[in-house]
Amino acid sequence: MINELPGKPAPYYLKSGHGPRRVVAGHLVTRIARAEETGGLFDAAVWSAGRGAEIPLHRHKHSNQAVMVLAGQLDLNLEGRVSRLSPFDFASIPAGTVHGHRVHGHHTRFLEWTTGGDAGKLPESLGDPAETSAVPADIATLTPDQQSAAGTIDTHFEAASSASPAGAHTRTTPPAGPAPYVLESGEGERLIAGDQMFTFLAHQGNTGGEFITLTTRGPKGDRIPRHFHEKHTECFFCLEGAMTMWAFDEEIALGPGDFLHVPAGTIHAYRLDAPSNNFLGILAPGLFEPFFRTLCDPYPGYDFPAQPWPFRFDRVVAALPSLDLRLVEGPPRP
Ligand code: FE
Repeated sequence: MINELPGKPAPYYLKSGHGPRRVVAGHLVTRIARAEETGGLFDAAVWSAGRGAEIPLHRHKHSNQAVMVLAGQLDLNLEGRVSRLSPFDFASIPAGTVHGHRVHGHHTRFLEWTTGGDAGKLPESLGDPAETSAVPADIATLTPDQQSAAGTIDTHFEAASSASPAGAHTRTTPPAGPAPYVLESGEGERLIAGDQMFTFLAHQGNTGGEFITLTTRGPKGDRIPRHFHEKHTECFFCLEGAMTMWAFDEEIALGPGDFLHVPAGTIHAYRLDAPSNNFLGILAPGLFEPFFRTLCDPYPGYDFPAQPWPFRFDRVVAALPSLDLRLVEGPPRP
């Protein structure tokens, strides 16, 4: 299934910019995953807007949210503190956090995903179908009627609060528990296995176990072994470089902005193809976290290493019965 949402839980692939589009308060919102496709595990969309577009302060009672900026600059207000987010900066917005945003860059784009509640349905609930792929020229804001209607999708607007010093939620690693935070590009919990560096942006403790998210950086390399997961969905969003994926008996080329949805039970594999590559993984629920902690070691660097580190797949093989990983071909050579 290519370049359209299947409307049911199934694997599919969207090239950058594809998916149903809505206009919400001056933003063009492109849906890349809905509860129909994910079996209710998460909703995801790419938001595009120009300077001045905003969503006023609000909170979700049940929905955990995450944001990664893809282009431009986004001023994100978390509990009255504003952080200016640049490309590949990440924010975790757990249920209960008062938050809102105002777009700063003239060409800003960000990926947003939601678990555990209905807030991800906001584009369909409050938006209008977009007639073109153009970013709206008018910076409309949400009307009071729209704001009160949002209550039915776990979205509760608030009176404005005064902003306190910028960056107060900025960290270098995720906290232990479900607090709001911002990680600038490159920050996060960094791990290494072979020639690939994994950076946890959110672990299970941050999301009530509903998802984990991490980036993978590496050079051109070999295909990883074909495998599947029985209990979790894995999504791949290419940020930089190029990769080839194998899923549902197709070979798929992913470039920046391309998205692949791999539900439980789908045999898949990937290979990094460009001299330098970076992709975002969203795994829901988050139960696959122990795989990375078994395979990897803590890593002090900020990019993949010049020489590969030890590749301890032997530790994965030893722990295989407890990991949600089913290999359908032999493990890689050390
Ligand atoms: Fe996988």
